[in-house]
Amino acid sequence: METILTVQHLTKKFGFLTAVKDLSFTIEKGNVYGILGPNGSGKSTTLGIILNVVNRTSGSFCWFEGNTSTHEALKKVGAIIERPNFYPYMTAVQNLKLVCKIKEVPETKIEEKLELVGLLDRKDSKFRTYSLGMKQRLAIASALLNDPEILILDEPTNGLDPQGIHQIREIIKKIAAKGTTILLASHLLDEVEKVCSHVVILRKGEKLYSGPVDGMMASHGFFELRTTAMDKL
Ligand code: ADP
Ligand code: MG
Repeated sequence: METILTVQHLTKKFGFLTAVKDLSFTIEKGNVYGILGPNGSGKSTTLGIILNVVNRTSGSFCWFEGNTSTHEALKKVGAIIERPNFYPYMTAVQNLKLVCKIKEVPETKIEEKLELVGLLDRKDSKFRTYSLGMKQRLAIASALLNDPEILILDEPTNGLDPQGIHQIREIIKKIAAKGTTILLASHLLDEVEKVCSHVVILRKGEKLYSGPVDGMMASHGFFELRTTAMDKL
């Protein structure tokens, strides 16, 4: 088994607030991981730390078994942790060409990735004409241009209508089926159940459970977990 990421005893304090507390977990190649927890449970902070955009208070994390620097390792990580942001008056293809230049990736990748996210027929439409779901799918295509080892998504279905939500979930499954490891932060139990094989459950920055999604059902009682509002976790 190949380890993609090891997180050990990670803690993040914002003043008196402990957003992430002594959190440890590992990510193995080829699996689909969920970070599940209600709003404010520390999901985005955790992603920010492992992506080097949030400073940790203590603890450590290690990409690809420490064989490269974090800076080098992050070139093999695709992440969407903010609302999709592209040039509004440029088309999808024009926007992705810019990304190819920055990432030093051949432009031949563009159509392959647009097809994967179901946007090939809208490739020449301006970004501003896209729905939120299409914007999110373009962001996924963009993050995949350099064929990263792992794709990280922070609440990618937030704000989408049921059809948009379904499309994103199916795309994530398709990407996973091609062998890309996935890390998906979500406050939705059903999303994690539908998409993920493994899960780290957070409550107030602390880990409640990590392991296979099936085990989560067994450990908490499937029915109980189903009927418990995530906010009460
Ligand atoms: P989640 O993504 O699970 O909703 P976050 O990681 O965004 O949770 O937030 C965890 C906690 O840390 C929340 O209480 C949030 O208010 C707090 N927090 C997050 N970012 C900051 C920040 N930059 N400054 C102060 N508090 C923050
Ligand atoms: Mg968040």
